[in-house]
Amino acid sequence: MSILSLEDKKIIESSIRDIPNFPKEGVVFKDITTLLNNPKALKTLMNHLEKRYKSYDLDYIAGIDARGFIFGSILADRLNIGFVPVRKKGKLPYTTVAEKYALEYGIDEIEVHIDAFPKENARVLLMDDLIATGGTAKAAASLLSKVGANCVEACFILELNFLKGRNDIDADVYSVMQVN
Ligand code: AMP
Repeated sequence: MSILSLEDKKIIESSIRDIPNFPKEGVVFKDITTLLNNPKALKTLMNHLEKRYKSYDLDYIAGIDARGFIFGSILADRLNIGFVPVRKKGKLPYTTVAEKYALEYGIDEIEVHIDAFPKENARVLLMDDLIATGGTAKAAASLLSKVGANCVEACFILELNFLKGRNDIDADVYSVMQVN
């Protein structure tokens, strides 16, 4: 198990930019593009995740559209395992399984290919950049079980603690950093 040192935490934390009132009034958007273009911060983060998950005996990483694709793909490559995209509705070309989830206004839908996890009962890490209400991750975890995969943990770079999104996820939850 890898413990993130205070110094490494600072390097990652200070590379993420707050954008107030985006995409709407009252929301503080956590912009990870400034983490991605900072090689030291990205490497520090990925080294930590690689150390944490190398002993998990994972078969795949499932990344959530779209920022989960970035961290999930890098980690999958480092762990020498496959990567599976969980996409917004209408983007995947083959037969899909879908799950709807509630947004503040209306509903959204995500999908995964029906044969996304060729290994039976695959051990899968679900990954996204941030957990807020947990609605997206909950729907993604439920998609994984619909296609026969076993979500062993859901991993986020940032967790908005005050929204308590983790309580809704039917799997262990790990966040690298928390916002109170
Ligand atoms: P939720 O379903 O409420 O947990 O929202 C999680 C999804 O919305 C993730 O894919 C995040 O990338 C995105 N998201 C929600 N809130 C924020 C925020 N304050 N900053 C950046 N991304 C966010």
